[in-house]
Amino acid sequence: TVARLGGDEFTVILPALDDRARADSIARDILAAVSQAFQIGDETLYLTASIGITMYPDEGGDVETLLKHADQAMYAAKRNGRNCFHHFTSALQLTAQSRQAMIKDLRAAVDGNQFRVHFQPIVDIATGRVRKAEALIRWHHPVRGMVSPLDFISVAEESGLIHPIGDWIFKQAAQWAKRWNDKYEHGFQVSVNVSPLQFQANAEHCQRWTEYLAETGVPARSIVIEITEGLLLHADPAVTEKLMQLRDNGIEVAIDDFGTGYSSLAYLKKFNIDFLKIDQSFVRNLATDASDMALSEAIIVMAHKLGLKVIAEGVETAEQKQHLLAAGCDYVQGFLFSRPVPPEDFEQLVDRLNG
Ligand code: C2E
Ligand code: CA
Ligand code: CA
Repeated sequence: TVARLGGDEFTVILPALDDRARADSIARDILAAVSQAFQIGDETLYLTASIGITMYPDEGGDVETLLKHADQAMYAAKRNGRNCFHHFTSALQLTAQSRQAMIKDLRAAVDGNQFRVHFQPIVDIATGRVRKAEALIRWHHPVRGMVSPLDFISVAEESGLIHPIGDWIFKQAAQWAKRWNDKYEHGFQVSVNVSPLQFQANAEHCQRWTEYLAETGVPARSIVIEITEGLLLHADPAVTEKLMQLRDNGIEVAIDDFGTGYSSLAYLKKFNIDFLKIDQSFVRNLATDASDMALSEAIIVMAHKLGLKVIAEGVETAEQKQHLLAAGCDYVQGFLFSRPVPPEDFEQLVDRLNG
């Protein structure tokens, strides 16, 4: 039986299977059939499918459980790169359950003020002075202790909680940006990581953010939004319009993790990007890998030609900093200078680093 349950999801029921391997070979046949090119007018179209497989009765005794488990297996197939199939496993179920638990905890965290913001200094490579800071979120979980953003941002995105969390961190960053603009030099900037999902069509934060800056007297120039290359690559007009709106109001834009995605020079130019952040993975091997050195040099030259400034991330050794200085990099950020610290400690840190 082949059924379409909704959207682009189909269900196939295979009764009286004698073994699992038979399900695999049928899944392979389906993938092969779906992936054949087909013609609509002048266009050749290509499709892929992702298949999740679950077995009755071992992996589910009723329809609801079977569909849920097939769904979890299908998401595993998607995560494995799509165009493949995946069996349900109890490990998948555990992952799904712990995600559910985390969503519940995250909701409580939003209501219960469990987030903190830490700041990592960004140093002008030529003068050694701290000119910017990156805001990085921290979650103090009441039972688990510190949870890394690497572990919860994706869950926040999946559950929509990225919107309240993103608003919170933006406001925090803005408040500290204002204070440090007055305390240090004008032009001190605080950067905030913004998830692509926050730019979705129904998200209204851009308007709210610029209003917030105006109301609280935070200079828009003191805020930098960090986005990833993918946002520009897949951008639909609604997304880019939002980005432009922020820019028109004076907020600057940095491309995070540059060099790891599908970098496109045309996009950098088109969207008037202000900063490129060279990804840690290049910086790590600067001293030992000639090709990483060449890549970093090329990124810096190219960025400068396009009128962008370059920040190198993950700088851990004086040697890496030397290489970056020689290559003409503008700013450096990394454990060599400091780990991300709470705002109170940040001020002491700046006093020390700026001498
Ligand atoms: P990212 O934006 O690339 O941030 C840099 C990460 O590298 C931070 O990890 C920072 O602590 C770490 N780092 C800095 N210097 C060094 C170094 O010298 N060596 C090494 N090995 N690591 C260094 P963190 O704070 O755990 O954040 C991880 C990621 O989580 C961030 O990567 C960012 O993608 C995401 N993230 C953090 N805060 C937020 C937030 O407020 N909103 C969103 N949407 N994402 C966030
Ligand atoms: Ca970042
Ligand atoms: Ca980064």
